[in-house]
Amino acid sequence: MKLEIITDDEQGARICGEYWRQSEDGEFVFKISEIAIAYSMKTHEVSKFVEQHAFVWLEDICCGRCRQPYRFGTRSQYQDRRWLRERVCSACLEAERQAIADEKKELLLKMRQSAKSNVPDLAALDLTSKVYLLATIQALGDEQLATIEPLSDYPACTLSPDPVYDHKVLQHLIDHNLLLISLATRLEVVALHEDGQFSVDLGACSFSISFEADQVIALINEFFDEEIAHSVRQSPEFNALCKEAQLNECIGFLKVMLEEHQLYWSPGEKSRQMLSRCLEHFSVAQVYNFIWRAAKDAAAYYMRSSISKRQAANSVVGNISRSMERALANEWEVKPFARNYNLPQSSLSRVIFNMILGTDDSGFDYRLADVFEKSGLHEPSV
Ligand SMILES: [Zn+2]
Repeated sequence: MKLEIITDDEQGARICGEYWRQSEDGEFVFKISEIAIAYSMKTHEVSKFVEQHAFVWLEDICCGRCRQPYRFGTRSQYQDRRWLRERVCSACLEAERQAIADEKKELLLKMRQSAKSNVPDLAALDLTSKVYLLATIQALGDEQLATIEPLSDYPACTLSPDPVYDHKVLQHLIDHNLLLISLATRLEVVALHEDGQFSVDLGACSFSISFEADQVIALINEFFDEEIAHSVRQSPEFNALCKEAQLNECIGFLKVMLEEHQLYWSPGEKSRQMLSRCLEHFSVAQVYNFIWRAAKDAAAYYMRSSISKRQAANSVVGNISRSMERALANEWEVKPFARNYNLPQSSLSRVIFNMILGTDDSGFDYRLADVFEKSGLHEPSV
């Protein structure tokens, strides 16, 4: 044990020396009460006095990183010393925290700078990008048309009908340099991985729009230009967007229905294919009927059989498919459902079906071909 006295006062130094004096077998030589009597102090004042005027340290009780020995001011601190062995000191922890914060800031800055120098020409933008951008601005944009607020601040279905689709839209806009990650973004949204890679939780980020407000206004006005809107409606790309929106309405509803029955499962390509086939023959409102029934059956199947929740959830796809085939073969009128209270019309759906297609249907009550027909158009062939 090394003792360091940090007072010039002789008596003070003597008190500290006696306080810390140990016998060969490591016992303290004086009781604190003995020191108190010898120097006319109150017992409880002794440790406080010593702590202010001296400290001890041991070579092997040090920070696991910088090897700086820990300092002990009182006997009770010293007695707990084994807890500190190899523990990283607060200075090292702080330095580490700061280094991580700096690295994350640097990453965000680089992402932003690289996006900024690669902003595409607004006039040459593809339709999907324009639609995604408009929907995002309408859903999450501020009044100045400059900032996109974090998706996680808003309820479900604000941007699109399904959370996975929400992220796909944001990822698309980031990949195309249409949104710039805001530097005010909380650093916790960036995760650094051990392999040197990193990931950003886009749902928790705020962004700035890569264009000036007047450019954004021009983009919005474009869709109110009857001639432009007309050619947009005829394009296969727009048709694909309509189908994608309707499909995601069904996927969003399927997830919510399964969750209501405590069956958690994320639909994959097989379900997407099957639901897309359903949507060729039935409206979203009618497909909701198939989904609702299939989720109810899956829950009952789980209750009465010894199958896993996963298997039960998996049975849903086959069930919907069979309902569709039976309804088609028997030419049944499938009762349409109303919109689910928790799944209101999303911004993306409003841009596609109300703003561009000019219907009041939101692509919900009618099949896509019928929506097009209602607005005096033929569904373009893809
Ligand atoms: Zn350290």
